[in-house]
Amino acid sequence: MEDKLALEQRVKDLHKLLNDYGHAYYVLDRPLVPDSEYDARMKELIAIEEEHPDLIMPDSPTQRVGGEVLPGFSKVVHDTPMLSLSNVFNEEDIREFDRRVRADVGNVTYVCELKIDGLAISLKYEQGLFAQGSTRGDGTVGEDITMNLRTIRAIPLKLSEPVDIEARGEAYMPKKSFMKLNESREEDGLDVFANPRNAAAGSLRQLDPKIAASRNLSVFMYGMGGNGADYGLDTHSGSLEYLASLGFRTNPETRRCKDVEEVLAFVESWQDRRPDLPYEIDGIVIKVDSFHHQEELGFTAKSPRWATAYKFPAEEVKTKLLTIELTVGRTGVVTPTAILEPVRVAGTTVSRASLHNGDLIREKDIRIGDEVIIRKAGDIIPEIVMSLADQRSGDEEPFEMPAHCPACDSELVHLEEEVALRCVNPQCPAQLQEAVIHFVSRNAMNIEGIGEKVVGQLFAEGLIKDAADLYTLTEEQLAGLDRMGEKSASNLIAAIRQSKSNSLEKLLFGLGIRHVGQKAAQILAMEFGTLDALRAATEEQLTAIHEIGEKVADSVVTYFGNEDVERVLGKLEAAGVNTVYTGPRKQDIPEDGPLAGKTVVLTGKLSHFTRNDAKAALEALGASVTGSVSKKTDLVVAGEEAGSKLEKAESLGIEIWDEAALLDAISE
Ligand code: NAD
Repeated sequence: MEDKLALEQRVKDLHKLLNDYGHAYYVLDRPLVPDSEYDARMKELIAIEEEHPDLIMPDSPTQRVGGEVLPGFSKVVHDTPMLSLSNVFNEEDIREFDRRVRADVGNVTYVCELKIDGLAISLKYEQGLFAQGSTRGDGTVGEDITMNLRTIRAIPLKLSEPVDIEARGEAYMPKKSFMKLNESREEDGLDVFANPRNAAAGSLRQLDPKIAASRNLSVFMYGMGGNGADYGLDTHSGSLEYLASLGFRTNPETRRCKDVEEVLAFVESWQDRRPDLPYEIDGIVIKVDSFHHQEELGFTAKSPRWATAYKFPAEEVKTKLLTIELTVGRTGVVTPTAILEPVRVAGTTVSRASLHNGDLIREKDIRIGDEVIIRKAGDIIPEIVMSLADQRSGDEEPFEMPAHCPACDSELVHLEEEVALRCVNPQCPAQLQEAVIHFVSRNAMNIEGIGEKVVGQLFAEGLIKDAADLYTLTEEQLAGLDRMGEKSASNLIAAIRQSKSNSLEKLLFGLGIRHVGQKAAQILAMEFGTLDALRAATEEQLTAIHEIGEKVADSVVTYFGNEDVERVLGKLEAAGVNTVYTGPRKQDIPEDGPLAGKTVVLTGKLSHFTRNDAKAALEALGASVTGSVSKKTDLVVAGEEAGSKLEKAESLGIEIWDEAALLDAISE
């Protein structure tokens, strides 16, 4: 009796725990614990419920699909529920799933698919036109995120046939975009996303579609909401082919397997290849192929009986936190980094992990000397999952972020809404050094042969104080540096000299003006032509430019108003660094070309041109090429998989060319 009471209490505790974890994960997109911890608690609850069916409550987390609708979004009631998947964790579980399937319907063919770690979406088309897109939500009711989904280029706005259809799939953020996003959020003093899944969900569940548009999301579609028979289909694999033929993006790594042995071989083959994919997967989905068999097998309240998801074991390892190092970034953000006893995780040796900010260290109660569990977030970035408080000896030291900059000792501040601590001293040597590292980097002035180490030495030796000083360096000075031979010194001087003739956009990007990335630098350079013209620009002139917002305009004006900046720019000019844009300017565009005076927008993928080539070709015809479609646009050139821009152009009645029309115009 007592045992039963204890068990009931445990069930209640697990409900509370799983509901709290689920809310943080599904609703806030900010998980409190790693998936493996959530999965372990869920497994424990399922095991108790299987043994004691009388303890299954209708509101048990095992009985419902996670997720809720966020306020602010319209609700979408799904025509058929969007369910979750049961999970299996090892070979024996997969064999057991197969045994159950065969016991019910006899031998079957399976389809194995990668389990993309994103969020489930539903896309509805009417007469072949994209009409509505939604999240899974609680399975019955999801959020209407049509506007956000329209920004994803892999989602066709028009299908190859005028059908009414609901396609289902996964929206995700590629690993590279995830890394870039977190890097820039860290630089901007914002919270970082825990993994690509949360980053994708966080991007799509925003009321402002511009945010989703800027996040470089993609999709793979893996099924249909309605009945396959309506489209003359009788297998899941057939429906994937049909979806692809309609223009949907489906995953190429899908395999039909004639039995469980082939399923196991497929699962095994992905254990090691996973890190090579450009997107994250957290398992393999195994589905019964025949719709007839699927119908016979049916559903539980939460998931189909004809499918299951094998989850890869999360690679989490224990190591020791030796110390916490502080680094000051180019924009003054002070970031704590954990220095770890080196250990192998998911294919590489890890000895450092970013701790992001002081709040996170406090929340996770991470102390110097702790035994910690680490893993790779999104398969790529090492992170500390938790510290093992029960293994402390008492010698561990709690860590507090300092009140003063570790490099220049000036007081650190929290800027509005930022979690990060920032050094706001423009003369901080650490920031100056980072600024030079950025200045010489490939996408900026591209000075080969100088990296972090050389810049560090140049500062340490007092040879430079800012980027402009690079141009006064001599071969003798460089040859005196550690591990720098005469040959390297002379190559370096040549590379520095060569960088003087770079076009203005490279210099602008290299200056590291806040919020001026490569794209903004290109636009500003093209628009103003010279550094002097840009320096004289007012905020109004800047915001009048297509694609330049207030944030960038404000930052540019503030930057050029700074005396130290004036001084550095003066030095750069004196050294003979080019401050003129050498690409085609607006006024260079022929006035009498067939597209003279026309504003043209390029969208979609072109097979005969790179973006830049197509732009140059259009400019040669006299067009001025802009980024977004508005009433002022005269023509849209749309390649494959063109998305929202094409849609908008159609709705505004703007002339549209395909790639062939562009080729014709050029050859005329
Ligand atoms: P799930 O992620 O285990 O599986 C179902 C989902 O898989 C589908 O909804 C779909 O979005 C996705 N999927 C990806 N590729 C697919 C494909 N090829 N075919 C079909 N579906 C595909 O289930 P869930 O209910 O979305 O989430 C449960 C999981 O989420 C848990 O196992 C856990 O790992 C994680 N979770 C973690 C926390 C936490 O606190 N860390 C909390 C809640 C849930």
